[in-house]
Amino acid sequence: MESKKEEVRRKHIRLHMEGALTARDKVGVQDFVLLDAYTSETAFLDNLRKRFSENLIYTYIGTLLVSVNPYQELGIYTVSQMELYQGVNFFELPPHVYAIADNAYRMMCSELNNHFILISGESGAGKTEAFKKILQYFAVTCPMTESLQIARDRLLLSNPVLEAFGNAKTLRNDNSSRFGKYMDIQFDFKGVPVGGHIISYLIEKSRVVYQNQGERNFHIFYQLLEGGEEELLAYLGLERDHQLYKYLSQNLFGIIASVLHLGNICFEENQQGCATIPDTHEIKWIAKLLGVHPWVLLEALTHRKIEAKTEEVICPLTPELSAYARDAMAKAVYGRTFTWLVNKINSSLVNKDFTGKTVIGLLDIYGFEVFDKNGFEQFCINYCNEKLQQLLIERTLKAEQAEYEMEGIEWEPIQYFNNKIICDLVEERHKGIISILDEECIRPGPATDLSFLERLEEKVGKHAHFQTRKLAGPKSRKRIGWMEFRLFHYAGEVTYCTKGFLEKNNDLLYRHLKEVLCRSRNRILKECFLVAELENRRRPPTVGTQFKNSLSSLLEILISKEPSYIRCIKPNERKEPNKFDDFLVRHQVKYLGLMEHLRVRRAGFAYRRKYEHFLQRYKSLCPDTWPHWHGRPAEGVERLIKYIGYKPEEYKLGRTKIFIRFPRTLFATEDAFEFS
Ligand code: ADP
Ligand code: MG
Repeated sequence: MESKKEEVRRKHIRLHMEGALTARDKVGVQDFVLLDAYTSETAFLDNLRKRFSENLIYTYIGTLLVSVNPYQELGIYTVSQMELYQGVNFFELPPHVYAIADNAYRMMCSELNNHFILISGESGAGKTEAFKKILQYFAVTCPMTESLQIARDRLLLSNPVLEAFGNAKTLRNDNSSRFGKYMDIQFDFKGVPVGGHIISYLIEKSRVVYQNQGERNFHIFYQLLEGGEEELLAYLGLERDHQLYKYLSQNLFGIIASVLHLGNICFEENQQGCATIPDTHEIKWIAKLLGVHPWVLLEALTHRKIEAKTEEVICPLTPELSAYARDAMAKAVYGRTFTWLVNKINSSLVNKDFTGKTVIGLLDIYGFEVFDKNGFEQFCINYCNEKLQQLLIERTLKAEQAEYEMEGIEWEPIQYFNNKIICDLVEERHKGIISILDEECIRPGPATDLSFLERLEEKVGKHAHFQTRKLAGPKSRKRIGWMEFRLFHYAGEVTYCTKGFLEKNNDLLYRHLKEVLCRSRNRILKECFLVAELENRRRPPTVGTQFKNSLSSLLEILISKEPSYIRCIKPNERKEPNKFDDFLVRHQVKYLGLMEHLRVRRAGFAYRRKYEHFLQRYKSLCPDTWPHWHGRPAEGVERLIKYIGYKPEEYKLGRTKIFIRFPRTLFATEDAFEFS
């Protein structure tokens, strides 16, 4: 192993010495920082396309990794590849997701600090695959003791379980994650993975009751029906032909089955216009599976309890409202069961025996979404991305300036857009869009999606990043509908339709049904619906507010950690290999903020390294420093860097580190390696 790595390194050096430059034009540059026309989006795309056509799916912007989904197996995730990347300095091998993982791991081990790797991109871009590749990399390359194999296996196993319950086939991705996921991998002081913790975000519950044409429900429903034994299916009252269950086209399974049965309940209208359930077959099964009384369930699905001053009044629901209540129940049951499952996985992953751990957090989260029609979900997701951009500004741009100052390096301050103003517009207490939405949700009287829009116009209408049709000038007026508002996000403008905002934010489960579920005899449901909830008469926080709070705790988790970034790009809409759709990729490059990131990276120094480490790595490139340098490391580095041919304006010597603007020569050797 060691000798192979050494061999690779020697090859770099030999190629360098022979001046063997590369067919750079053929495969482009492996770091966008090296692009001559770095401000040109076209040059950026050319480079990405060139590399993609050679199956080089990874490219850096400094330390950020850009990844293009190849939609084919490339044979680049083998154990020998993993070994190759292990312990090698970041820029010395072609870009790879393993390099990002290894770099975070090495830094964690040597500096005993915490890290996170943020993976973003649109649906189908390869986020979850990258997440899994990183997890596998740690599982294979980290030191391991026999007693800790269980912890490792559980970490690896948590993923398929979560995918069964949280992933579904969509038009964009056959295995689309319908929730955001943050996983901490905990390491002991020897760098052995010892445990983990998972947090999930915004599981798309609505999928349980409705899927777009050509999409499917969560995998678990099909797995249950296709993989379940006859005996189990009979026990759950299910038939194998899943066309029978409208929501689609032992114990946990009981809950999943009850959701399927719920989907088959039909309501009819009696003479008074009230809902009735003519066929109680499904009700009986649900009652049995969830451990509730069938008549109580039936009543709760067709009636609503209204609290008058001194007493409760039970009034019948229309068939429409009953259907709404039924769907709300299915969503609540599924959503809370998912949360329960995450908690269960977490309790199997905790490792209480270890103290003084460090962690690497992996975040697999939806990137900016801009569709033809954007609703409440896109609003939440894009707000999330604004917050993550804030983090990037705090952790990368500001940290960069601080480092230059600390190292005593002169540099020109970089202009970048600080998107805090947009975060405030969305989240500020009492004044932000989420607060305004919450107020509309509790306002007595007829609040509608339209009245919400009017309230927005009234309260944030003057904000520079907000617009509606009424407020817009004659030019953009045509492009905004009457029910829409537009936000000028840091990545670009997105127009949201307010339709459904109130209902989705409220996510109401009638109290009557909640009571039924809280009194269930099912062991899992009991943990999901606590009786205490019934005693608490206060409204539960809205979906928007819950999301805002969970984002703010996520940011607290991340802000203290060292960041790495992976930006995933989907090359075409057809899930096909070797197809690079320029228009589609250009759009993503824009919304991923890659051009701005590159600009900022170019303005600073792409490469920096402590003198000692730099010398150790490259001393063989210069006769003065090879095989040993006995003087001060800084002087050795200066000799070396001059010998390689760097001009004074290309590098700066700081107090403890060398900073190189574009480490061209170092890269040149690596490029040569890439296709030698
Ligand atoms: P996302 O999580 O961003 O929505 P996924 O990671 O689920 O996207 O990727 C979608 C599909 O693309 C995967 O199921 C797989 O078929 C393919 N894919 C993604 N990344 C790779 C890769 N690095 N190599 C090969 N195929 C990939
Ligand atoms: Mg995914």
